[in-house]
Amino acid sequence: MGQTRCRECGGPVIEIELSSGNEPLMMRSCSACDAREWSKEGEGLDLRGALDRLSQTGSTRRQSR
Ligand SMILES: [Zn+2]
Repeated sequence: MGQTRCRECGGPVIEIELSSGNEPLMMRSCSACDAREWSKEGEGLDLRGALDRLSQTGSTRRQSR
């Protein structure tokens, strides 16, 4: 494991740790091309998935007619 670099341009990225409930999320933002990458506990995570988790926090699904 070497330095974290951007997939798009290979530039340096900044790691920002966000806490979503009891699930820590890591956001990597490239300072060169502003590409963002989300990861959860070392696992790759889609931005949509991350936002979906954040939006689902505190909400309850209801399946009723
Ligand atoms: Zn980049």
